[in-house]
Amino acid sequence: MADFDLLVLGAGPAGSAAAITATRAGLRVALIDKHRFPRNKLCGGGFTGRSMRYFQEIFGTDLPYDGMLRRDAVSFCAFGQEVGHFTNVPPLHMTMRWDLDHALLRAAVAAGATDLTGQPVSAIDTLTPSVTLRDQTVTARLLIAADGVNSTTARALFGKAFDADTIGFALEVEVPSDTPDTPVRIDFGAADWGYGWDFPKTSGRTIGVGGILRRNGDLKTALATYLRHLDVTTDSPIKGQFLPFGAYRRVPGKGPVLLAGDAAGLVDPITGEGIAYAMKSGQLAAQSAVAAMRSGAPATALPLYRDALRPIHRAISQARMIRPMIFLPALRGGFVAGFRNSSTLRTEYLRLLAGETEYGQITRRTIARIPRLFMRSAFRQTSA
Ligand SMILES: Cc1cc2nc3c(=O)[nH]c(=O)nc-3n(C[C@H](O)[C@H](O)[C@H](O)COP(=O)(O)OP(=O)(O)OC[C@H]3O[C@@H](n4cnc5c(N)ncnc54)[C@H](O)[C@@H]3O)c2cc1C
Repeated sequence: MADFDLLVLGAGPAGSAAAITATRAGLRVALIDKHRFPRNKLCGGGFTGRSMRYFQEIFGTDLPYDGMLRRDAVSFCAFGQEVGHFTNVPPLHMTMRWDLDHALLRAAVAAGATDLTGQPVSAIDTLTPSVTLRDQTVTARLLIAADGVNSTTARALFGKAFDADTIGFALEVEVPSDTPDTPVRIDFGAADWGYGWDFPKTSGRTIGVGGILRRNGDLKTALATYLRHLDVTTDSPIKGQFLPFGAYRRVPGKGPVLLAGDAAGLVDPITGEGIAYAMKSGQLAAQSAVAAMRSGAPATALPLYRDALRPIHRAISQARMIRPMIFLPALRGGFVAGFRNSSTLRTEYLRLLAGETEYGQITRRTIARIPRLFMRSAFRQTSA
């Protein structure tokens, strides 16, 4: 008999969401991570309305932890131009992953998951499945691998963790500040086919740039330019990490292994948001595992999970379709003008961040606007 019903590898938002869901449904769950928590994870820490909605649905409490910074104003810029400062937007919370991930792990363990964090993982057997830790090997009937963008499990299953042609990369710096009362700021185009962000935190600001890696040979210069643009000088360390920017895995796992969160490539390719889909996919993977085991057929977990992920896959595909309208040089002038002048476009974008709408509606509206975007761009180019 296996030691557990379910092993969850990785205790980020995807892993903790999976562990709490499966534990509450009655499975014996082990939550494994090579790090002892709290631990840092490179991230802007922007916790949107969509993240909050999924968090509340999965974890069943109002807030992950006390003292999260809340903002209801956001400034948008695009290709160096201001496109608007919006107040009374749906609330955005600014988190530190040190605090957020620790709170989610604590909730999963309090619900009954066995805490196997803080131990090096020396082997992952994707067939049995089993995971070998410092001084024990634990087995289960299913494994949810939520081990992040560099997923060792995805590499074991498919030979690589992500597709080098589509992967994103981001650089970020924490800037200490006594006056973190700066607005939330998002700059489209601060990196090529990407964006920059300046997020206030309780003890400073998190500033970064990220975009499609193969289009950004010199992201360090892009970050230096962005910092200059924000009038920020800092000697804090600059750190970088891959960002799975829209190339999700069509089959999110193999055999008894389900991949969730970044390991399954579930980051929004326009907003760069990954925490919400990480939590949601963790929940869906766990629900699929529970249903498969209840029916006495653990092998059906993967097809169930693949079906459950369809809405997220569809949303990511639709965001990829919209992305050229923002970043193609021939269209971007029209996008800037459209975003600045169209309250519908802005409202839809803010509703998207709030989790109140999906890309389907935005796609239809954007496609309807293409002729106008072209006209605006052409007009701007001829009059420049
Ligand atoms: C610079 C940057 C800024 C970002 N900003 C935002 C933002 O503002 N808002 C947003 O929503 N998203 C943001 N994202 C995306 C977000 O960080 C990720 O999508 C999210 O963390 C994915 O969660 P996860 O649980 O899948 O993986 P992770 O959070 O990466 O967690 C994976 C866990 O697995 C563990 N692990 C890995 N390998 C092993 C192993 N072999 N054995 C044991 N444990 C292992 C790790 O220690 C880690 O704890 C940003 C990403 C980057 C790089």
